[in-house]
Amino acid sequence: MHPYYLCALLAYRGRLGTLAVENARILIRARPTKANILIADGKIKSVSRRKTGQVDRRIDVKGKFVLPGLVDGHAHLHDPAFTAREDFASGSSAAAAGGVTTVVEMVLSTPVDTPERVRAKIETGERSSLIDFSLHAGMMNLNNLQNIAAITGIGVRSFKTFTCKPYYVDDHGLMSLMRETTMQHSILNVHAENERTANENLEKLSGRKDPMAHADWKPNVAEEGAVRKVVDYAHALGARVHISHMSSAEGVTLVKTAKRARVKVTTETCPHYLTFTRKDMKKQGPYLKMNPSLKGPRDVEALWKGLRDGTVDIVTSEHAPGTREEKEVGWTDIWAAWGGVPAIETMLPVMLSEGVNKNRLSLATVQRVCCENPAKIFGIYPMKGAIARGADADLVVIELKVKRKVRAEELHYKVGWTPYEGWMMKGWPFLTVRGGQVLFEGGQLVGKSGSARFLPMSI
Ligand SMILES: [Zn+2]
Repeated sequence: MHPYYLCALLAYRGRLGTLAVENARILIRARPTKANILIADGKIKSVSRRKTGQVDRRIDVKGKFVLPGLVDGHAHLHDPAFTAREDFASGSSAAAAGGVTTVVEMVLSTPVDTPERVRAKIETGERSSLIDFSLHAGMMNLNNLQNIAAITGIGVRSFKTFTCKPYYVDDHGLMSLMRETTMQHSILNVHAENERTANENLEKLSGRKDPMAHADWKPNVAEEGAVRKVVDYAHALGARVHISHMSSAEGVTLVKTAKRARVKVTTETCPHYLTFTRKDMKKQGPYLKMNPSLKGPRDVEALWKGLRDGTVDIVTSEHAPGTREEKEVGWTDIWAAWGGVPAIETMLPVMLSEGVNKNRLSLATVQRVCCENPAKIFGIYPMKGAIARGADADLVVIELKVKRKVRAEELHYKVGWTPYEGWMMKGWPFLTVRGGQVLFEGGQLVGKSGSARFLPMSI
């Protein structure tokens, strides 16, 4: 047993009682099935039609759907240099209110690329997070490549690198990283946008500072070129790669072809790439500045289709909020604005409202791309991402037909804004349970931060 599990187990013993979630509808092999879920000591003890016996607490969910707590494979919750944007406590609160019970926290700017830095981040997370977490290490390059082996020893087996600024790694660097992560049984996440295309376009933009200039900077062809390179190298080296936040139809086509050729590639897209296009930047301007930038309606449809047919493996929030001040400056100079949006709390409502209730995705697909697949890709399945005997008792009860307008003041972000302000969403989380503890109930956060665990990956 890994020492982290042992510590967590000892800390939990005796503290947690029993809980029964009754009259639930869960999806077993994509089929709605009635079930009572019995939880003891933070784990699922049984899933059956039988009534549960004596328990400390009983919650009758009256036929509502219950999914495994969402596993967000890419979110920036905590960077010590940017805690005005978010931190583990606030970000994980927003996550819990949005039905997310596990996050694979992604390095933002402060490096997490040595065993010491990884340990420090684990400590911060265990002290202040409300939800369980794994970590991605990064940003990786030729200077810290030699740390990969030691970092995997702590249970972090996912690394992040870039094919463009601000963490540009050249072809030699990219291949060296792939070789090393493969040797260390790890996964290499790549921010895939082509550096040369970006540089050429920057010249053509000749000093433009309007919000659309940012979208014109790295269009579809930038992502296409980089994704092609990454899958080609992965193919040649037998490396396991994960394309971060894919935004284009071309990317979907390339990944589909690569998967057919048995390249070990997986990919993600994010709620914003499924709901906004570059046109929306005309109204929201710098508030929708993000990297990669928003594309067109054809791309949005290709991403939804990619989720349906399994080409796009997962949806991640890519939660990367900036403060209003960091966004407002972009109206006069888009290059000065922060690129990223708050997204973790609205991810499940977007998937239910824009996906399930608009017949783009089945609820079973949402469970696959938001719960099961991310846990599998990042090596924490079936402890996470499953409603099954022995799994962690992480659940989200949802109300598929409930309609509510998104209001930033009702969300839990530090930055106090959301790109979905005023959107009428149909389908919301109703109750969130993590490790047998109720975190969110009746619209209120009731969990305490500092009770979370770091999850080592087994890949
Ligand atoms: Zn990111």
